[in-house]
Amino acid sequence: PGTGLFLPERPNSHGVDLRDRAQREAVETGRGFFATHEWQAAPLTAVEAPQGPSDPVANPARLSDTVGQVRWAVPETVAAAASAARPWQASAAERTVILNRAADLFEANAGEVFALLHREAGKTMLDAVAELREAVDFLRYYAARTEGGAALGIFACISPWNFPLAIFTGQVAAALAAGNAVLAKPAEQTPLIAHRAVEWLHEAGVPRTALQSLPGAGEVGAALTSNPTVGGMAFTGSTETAQIIHRTMAKHLAPGAPLIAETGGLNAMIVDSTALPEQAVQAIVESAFQSAGQRCSALRCLYVQEDIAEDLLKMLTGAMEALLVGDPWELSCDLGPVIDAEAKAGIVAHIEQAASEGRVIKTFPTPDRGHFVAPTLIRVSGIDQMTREIFGPVLHVATFKATQIDKVIAAINATGYGLTFGLQTRIDDRVQHVSEAIHAGNIYVNRNQIGAIVGSQPFGGEGLSGTGPKAGGPLYVDRFRRHETLLMGG
Ligand code: GLU
Repeated sequence: PGTGLFLPERPNSHGVDLRDRAQREAVETGRGFFATHEWQAAPLTAVEAPQGPSDPVANPARLSDTVGQVRWAVPETVAAAASAARPWQASAAERTVILNRAADLFEANAGEVFALLHREAGKTMLDAVAELREAVDFLRYYAARTEGGAALGIFACISPWNFPLAIFTGQVAAALAAGNAVLAKPAEQTPLIAHRAVEWLHEAGVPRTALQSLPGAGEVGAALTSNPTVGGMAFTGSTETAQIIHRTMAKHLAPGAPLIAETGGLNAMIVDSTALPEQAVQAIVESAFQSAGQRCSALRCLYVQEDIAEDLLKMLTGAMEALLVGDPWELSCDLGPVIDAEAKAGIVAHIEQAASEGRVIKTFPTPDRGHFVAPTLIRVSGIDQMTREIFGPVLHVATFKATQIDKVIAAINATGYGLTFGLQTRIDDRVQHVSEAIHAGNIYVNRNQIGAIVGSQPFGGEGLSGTGPKAGGPLYVDRFRRHETLLMGG
C-alpha cells in the first residue's frame, strides 16, 4: 500500500548513502579489488562469428591507466548474430524473474561497477552511485511490465557512452521485457562495462540467442540499421545520428519498424528576481557541471533576470571555484574528465572561439593529464546565439528584463529541441504560465534539472530531442511490442 502523497510505494533501488561511514567503506573495499584490473570485452554472440581487431581502452582521467582490451565486432559479426537471434521464448512471468535476478546481480557487483564507471567512463562516485541505481531501477521497472502483446522480433539497441550502464541496460531490459531478441551495440568509448552487464544478464538466465552484444563503431551501427531482419530500433545519442538512422531504416526495414530515439537538447533555465539565490546556484551548478556536463539533460543556457544577474553570477562563479576537478576515483572529486580527446578538442575550440570574442565570463586552469575541461561560463545574447549542443561543462548565460519573459520562452521553444527545462521563481502564477508555455519533455521547478528517477520522472523529450515514449515510464515497453492494428493501417 502507498504510504502517502510524497512517498509512494515504489521499487526503486536505495543505492548507497555516502554519508554513512559503513556504507562508504564497503563501497571503497568493493571497488578496491578493481583499482588496476584489466577487463576484456568482445562480441558476445550465440554462434561463432567473425571478429575485428582489438584495442586498449584508456582511462580518460589518467591516460597511462589501461582499463582493458576490446575486440571489436565488424559488419560480418552483425550478420552472424542476426541469423542466430531468436525472440525470448520464456513466459512473461519467467522474464520478470530473470530480469529481477539480473538487477540483484548488478547490485551484488557494485564495487566492480563503480570501478568501471570511474576508470572507463570518468564518472565521479556520486554519478556512479546514481548510475547503478538507475540501471537497477530500469531492470525492475521493466521486469514488472512483461505482460502485453507479442514481441516484434529482433530489436537493435544503440546506446551512448555518457550512461554506459544505465541507458545500455534500460534499452536492453525494455526490449527483453517485451520478449524480443536483442542485438546491442554499446558506444565504442565504453565497451567494457557493457560487456559485464551482458554477462550478468546471461548469468541471470537470459539466453544467448535472446541477447547478443556487438561492441563496435559506426559501421556496426550501420550494419544493424540496414539489416532487414531487425524489427525495431532503440537509439540514444545525437539528433543528427538519429536522423541518419531514421533514413537508413526507412530504406531497409519494414515500414512498421519503430525507432525509439532519445537525442540532444539545448536545455534552458529561467531564474527570475524572486528566486532563492542559494537554491538557484546549487541547481545551476549541479545541472550544468555534474557529470562534467555530459548529460542530454544538462543545463546549457541560463537566463537570469537582469536585476539580480550581477549578484547571482558572483555567487555562481564562487561556487564554481569550489568545484574539485580531478581523478573521479577520489571521493572528493566533483568534476571528472570529458570522455575522450575528440570531445575535449571540440569543447575547447568552442571556449576559445568565445574567448576571442570576449565572451568568457569565467574559466579555470585544468589538470594537464587526462581529458579535462574546466567549468566555464560564456556570455550569450540569447539561446538563439547557440547553434549546437556543447556536450561538456560549459554554461552559457543570458540576461532578460522582467517584461521580456514571453520573448525568452519563445526563443527557447524556437530552438526546436525540447528535453529539459528549469525554472527558479517564487511566483506561483509564473510556474503555471511558464510550464504550460515551454515545450520540453521534463520540466523542473526550484530544483536541478538532471537525474530523472525511473518510475517517478519518466524521461524524454519532444521535437528534435526525441520520439518518446519516455524511458522509465509506463508507455515505454509497449513500444517494443507488435501492434497488429497499426501495421494493418498502411
Ligand atoms: N536521464 C538522465 C537525466 O535525467 C539523462 C540521460 C542522458 O543524458 O541521456 O539526467
